[in-house]
Amino acid sequence: MSPRAAAGKPRTPTVARAPGQRWPLWGSLIALVATLLVTLVWLAGRYEASQLQSRLERDTAEAIADIRTALTRNLQSLQALQSMHATPASLPTWSHDAQRLLHERREMLRLEWRDGQMGLLAVADTPYRPPVFARMGRSNAHPDVTLACAAARRLSTPAYATSYFLPQPDGLGMEVMELCLPQVSGGTHNGYLVATYALGEVLALVAPELARGQEISFTEADGTRLALHGGTRRGGRVFSAQQLLDLPGNTLVLRMDSWRSAPDLFPNVLTALVTAMSIALLSVLFLLGKDMRRRQEVEKDLAEALAFRKAMEDSLVTGLRARDLAGRITYVNPAFCEMVGFTPEELLGNSTPAPYWPPELAGEYQKRQEIRLAGGHAPPREGFESVFMRKDGSRFPVLIIEAPLINAQGMQTGWMSAFLDISEQRRVEELSRASQERLQASARLATVGEMASLLSHELNQPLAAISSYATGSLNLLDARAGLPGTEPADLQLALQRIAQQAERAGRVIKSVHDFVRRRVKAREPVRPESLIEAVLPLVSLQARKLRVRVETRVSPSLPAVVCDRTMVEQVLLNLARNAMQAMDEARVASPSLVIQVRRAGSEVGPGKGWLEFSVADQGPGIPPEVREQLFTPFFTTKAEGMGLGLSLCRTVVEQHGGFLAFEPNRPRGTIFRFTLPTDGAAPAAPSQPAPQGATTTA
Ligand code: ADP
Repeated sequence: MSPRAAAGKPRTPTVARAPGQRWPLWGSLIALVATLLVTLVWLAGRYEASQLQSRLERDTAEAIADIRTALTRNLQSLQALQSMHATPASLPTWSHDAQRLLHERREMLRLEWRDGQMGLLAVADTPYRPPVFARMGRSNAHPDVTLACAAARRLSTPAYATSYFLPQPDGLGMEVMELCLPQVSGGTHNGYLVATYALGEVLALVAPELARGQEISFTEADGTRLALHGGTRRGGRVFSAQQLLDLPGNTLVLRMDSWRSAPDLFPNVLTALVTAMSIALLSVLFLLGKDMRRRQEVEKDLAEALAFRKAMEDSLVTGLRARDLAGRITYVNPAFCEMVGFTPEELLGNSTPAPYWPPELAGEYQKRQEIRLAGGHAPPREGFESVFMRKDGSRFPVLIIEAPLINAQGMQTGWMSAFLDISEQRRVEELSRASQERLQASARLATVGEMASLLSHELNQPLAAISSYATGSLNLLDARAGLPGTEPADLQLALQRIAQQAERAGRVIKSVHDFVRRRVKAREPVRPESLIEAVLPLVSLQARKLRVRVETRVSPSLPAVVCDRTMVEQVLLNLARNAMQAMDEARVASPSLVIQVRRAGSEVGPGKGWLEFSVADQGPGIPPEVREQLFTPFFTTKAEGMGLGLSLCRTVVEQHGGFLAFEPNRPRGTIFRFTLPTDGAAPAAPSQPAPQGATTTA
């Protein structure tokens, strides 16, 4: 138990937030994480797209470089061809060489050798397809070539003409572009070499690895495709890049298109990684939420358990106190604080001597605590009584029940004690004892009242005897005056008799006086004979009147009994009186009363140390309906009875630790028995002989 859970301070266990209040927090956290994740995935996609785009740009630049290189190489080959065939005389060999060149360079469709006035000197067509101008006719395309050649001549460099669409005999067509190469020999201009390029084939000059999976095309400024080369389109997202192919006299736009094979959920490793991490993060969030909910439930249960415990502790009237193994107070409940009048702050952490120990008993308590803390004998389960002191100095009795304080690991961490303030209990006990005593006194007085008539009858005899002895003595004295022979011895005897009778009367008075006199209740060892002797004169008073024969049987050499003499005498007297009255009412022929004392039960075992007193009569016995209520106070069958005798008898005997029982006498009558402890009696009561109608303590 935690010392912080100490009494006094109202401690309500708090839950940080009600579950309902947490939802906005959770909602915003989830929204934030979701936004973060979506942004991450989007950024990763963007990054990937930009990577693809820049790769495409690079590829386009490379494709341009490839085309430019090929065109330059072609230009050189054409220049070589022209330089080898400078005059028209070499026309036949020109055709042959031109044919060979066309065979090697697939992109060139036709070579024409023209004179300075654009007149056609020789022509060679590509061996790969039918003559390209077959359908349209050469003259239709002539103006463009003428313009290009004029520019070439002016600048003395090769010049390209603008491209145009050339229909073919098979119904299709293609985009072509022409190159005009001025021919100069000996410083004079004497003709042109015109080469026709198929733009589609020019695109094929690009390195095959660039063309794989991508579409390369020449387009116009408005995006119209002039020629196309490369892989087939496969749907999905398209990336495209454009660059200019700047040629003397003509500028072409090269466009490259690339597309993703399929709309992928995980386009690349980065995105996949981010997605996987997002899923992991969401799972962790979910698990965290679950864990949190479980914790909240446990927290709630715990708070409820704590509140329950607190309510229970606060409502207890039993004081509770915990001490650690060093004897320091670690916990006190409100009931304990109220009992001793100290606040928890004044008590907690306190070691010995505790502020509620009466100073005069502190030494004894200190020793008791040291034994307890040293692991000495365990405290009794039923508790032990002690005296504590309130803050105002008043003392009060407490019942302490102690038990070891064991923690969750099974280790003893101190001692837990429960305290009961038993002052009220003590007060009630004292009150009932006082009223018992008062009741007994009044019962005694009632007995005395009843005896008054017997007393007067009994005193009559000695008084009459005294009177007659006195008369006799006076007569003797008178006679002595006239008769000198009278013996003084007779007078002496008469006076002795007077004295004896006076003493007898005195004894009768004293026996009643002794009985009535209220003495301080005290237990002392009393011989059983002396108990019998004390009540015998009073018993005899009534016995004589009712003509009952009284017999006493006391076993020899019995030990003394420890008892309150007056009380036990009253018990004996009550039982004897009841017996005689019962026999008188039943008009028994020769009534006799037997008072017996002997050892109780067997002489070994638990019976040892107890004496049994019994009073037996030959009365009518006790009928079953009376038996039930015999010991009920104020139950009587007699007209002048009080009904207190037997109930008081039982109380007295039980106060001495004994028991009172009755059984039928043989052949008739009743025997009442009771036991009393002897001087060295064992604490246990003797085994009961199981008499009929035995009583038990209520
Ligand atoms: P009281 O003598 O004033 O009536 P007791 O408590 O002494 O009160 O006795 C209660 C009743 O028990 C008596 O009225 C009587 O009926 C019955 N009783 C007691 N002793 C005997 C006995 N020895 N024989 C028969 N009845 C008895």
